[in-house]
Amino acid sequence: MGEFDLIARYFKRLTPQAALGVGDDCALVQPKPGTQLAISCDMLVQGRHFFANTDPRKLGHKALAVNLSDLAACGAKPLAFTLALALPEVDEPWLAAFSQGMFELADAHGCELIGGDTTAGPLNICITVFGEVSVVNGQSQALLRSGARPGDDLYVSGTVGDARLALDVLLGKLAVPDEVLKVARARLETPDPRVTLGLALRGVATSAIDVSDGLLGDLGHILEHSGVGATVQADVAIQSIATYASNTRTTGQFFINFSTNQWRALALAGGDDYELLFTAPPAQRAAVEAAALNNQTSVRRIGQIDAEPGLRVVDAQGQKLPTNYKSFDHFA
Ligand code: ADP
Ligand code: MG
Repeated sequence: MGEFDLIARYFKRLTPQAALGVGDDCALVQPKPGTQLAISCDMLVQGRHFFANTDPRKLGHKALAVNLSDLAACGAKPLAFTLALALPEVDEPWLAAFSQGMFELADAHGCELIGGDTTAGPLNICITVFGEVSVVNGQSQALLRSGARPGDDLYVSGTVGDARLALDVLLGKLAVPDEVLKVARARLETPDPRVTLGLALRGVATSAIDVSDGLLGDLGHILEHSGVGATVQADVAIQSIATYASNTRTTGQFFINFSTNQWRALALAGGDDYELLFTAPPAQRAAVEAAALNNQTSVRRIGQIDAEPGLRVVDAQGQKLPTNYKSFDHFA
């Protein structure tokens, strides 16, 4: 099978929204009047971002999910994406499963594959997404990292630390019962980008970022861009995964014997969760709760934004904890 047959077979589909999809030198997208295009690109490299034997269907899902998560963090509505793919060989079952996983998620978000590039080489997947952001009275509605203000509440959606827990188990660093690994592994391999939550937070949140490298590290980006500081309640941040362990404890089935500090490290430094970390003024608490409720997502208030620069992490008694929970950095 040649390059063009491969593209036609696995990646060319009808694109009713785009003006022109796969096939020509360029795709054409017509932005709606009064909108901006939000554009983001993420690359997944074998051995770096995923194991060589990763289920291709899950890989197709994740490659698109991490990009949709960036649109979510900006409050952008997914429109279209391109796929640049380097493949060591033409493996048809692999391609069929990969494209299936990718298109299932794309269809769920109304996001069309409009073009890309295909080459031979070590497995590498690079997706660029295009989303739509409304402009109201000349003002972009995009959620940015730069809008956090002193006094704002700090929230995180869903749970954090699960993907890292799964990774550490797969790497042999931690051991957990199979039932726990199953749940955590789904978070690692098929993350659910918080697109509808991001859209619902427009006009409510003052800043947002998606948690890809670790909660404290990603929070650091908001603090830097906004010129503010923050105080994080460590044990509120870990509550969900800790609760999840203790819930299972009450069923008497198993018990995860991690120290509080291990739970804190998972929640505060673990990456790959693709939850939204965002800020909103206290006057918007009801609106934040409503946005979460309407989008089948939970949110937790895990701290607040301070005028005093720097990051403070405290326990349930307000005692200061170390803040050196390291986020992931490819070149550190
Ligand atoms: P060009 O040489 O002009 O860059 P190509 O021959 O690489 O174009 O690609 C032919 C068409 O197939 C283009 O429309 C391109 O966007 C599309 N395409 C190539 N690879 C992919 C892919 N992996 N997924 C979707 N579309 C692709
Ligand atoms: Mg060309």
